[in-house]
Amino acid sequence: MIASYHRPTVANVKLDHILFNTQQLQERLPESTKTLAVVKANAYGHGAVPVAKALADQVDGFCVSNLDEAIELRMAGISQFILILGVVLPEEIFLAKQEKLAVTVASLDWLELVRQQKCDLRGLSVHIKVDSGMGRLGVRCLDDANRLIKGLKEAGSEVDGIFTHFATADEASDVKFNQQLTFFDSLVNQLDDKPAMVHASNSATSIWHQDTVMNAVRLGIAIYGLNPSGHDLPLPFELKPALTLESALVHVKTLPAGETVGYGATYKTAAEEVIGTVPIGYADGWTRDLQGFEVLVDGQRCEIVGRVSMDQITIKLPKSYPLGTVVTLIGSNGSDDISATDLAEKRGTINYEVLCLISDRVPRKYR
Ligand SMILES: *Cc1c(COP(=O)(O)O)cnc(C)c1O
Repeated sequence: MIASYHRPTVANVKLDHILFNTQQLQERLPESTKTLAVVKANAYGHGAVPVAKALADQVDGFCVSNLDEAIELRMAGISQFILILGVVLPEEIFLAKQEKLAVTVASLDWLELVRQQKCDLRGLSVHIKVDSGMGRLGVRCLDDANRLIKGLKEAGSEVDGIFTHFATADEASDVKFNQQLTFFDSLVNQLDDKPAMVHASNSATSIWHQDTVMNAVRLGIAIYGLNPSGHDLPLPFELKPALTLESALVHVKTLPAGETVGYGATYKTAAEEVIGTVPIGYADGWTRDLQGFEVLVDGQRCEIVGRVSMDQITIKLPKSYPLGTVVTLIGSNGSDDISATDLAEKRGTINYEVLCLISDRVPRKYR
């Protein structure tokens, strides 16, 4: 699908903010720590290729979730280290080798499948995933980790790294975090054959558990300028949100009292009201549960009234404004500001999801 350029709805991405945020984190890590920027899911909606290009000299490599995301970066000329965090199918290993990608191996079953399918592991770069308590991917004991490393090496792979992922690094309580850390530390220290790169930190770990570094970190949400905990834990240093979402009024009218607005006629004007129409809807990731939320016009909060349609929303304006007046959906307007975290709170979700759901129909513009 191509983006809809002939419409005022745009996501502005400030690449300089992404650089700033990355530096903010790097300044607080030991100099020798390698930084991997996580650019999966189109760089959390910011555009994987422009973000990776902007960060190419600033980081040691990138993490993506699957082969296609990695190949997109290679096709755009990104030659740095890339680690695929998800499981790669055995029959696709040749692609990973061809594109010089590191893959995650998370189970002995996978190695067995590779053997059955007679896939060639020679020369493949591998990072072993340890499940220290996330319960998603990874080996769950020392013995399995040792057998996996041995089996992969016998098959000719390079076991370059080992890593784990924390489930609660963005929470106030350290109990679960410390259990996972202790488990992973002890497993890594007892390995028969320890890989060179050992990593565990996502953004939240890098922010609130700065002593948990190993020798590389995987930074996602924080480089995009958002707090991994939402509004729960204060950030110890400044991050600048990189994405703003803007549109404009394309229709403005005054309705008498008692008129209804939108599908289902869920909103009825209480008095004479000025209603504006904005070309963004659930097909853009502006989901239906945002009915009753607000957008900014001329520095003022305006309620989204009536249902969110596929392509449009209707808002209640304090007075009539000319067509083309800017409507800010995420970002600042006048002295007020609406963040992706505010939206997440209204929707009962997390800022990550808000960003990832901004659809491909919305053009991204870069500064
Ligand atoms: C997505 C992901 C990250 C990045 O997480 P953030 O919270 O966005 O920093 C790191 N590691 C793994 C394994 C991931 O899946």
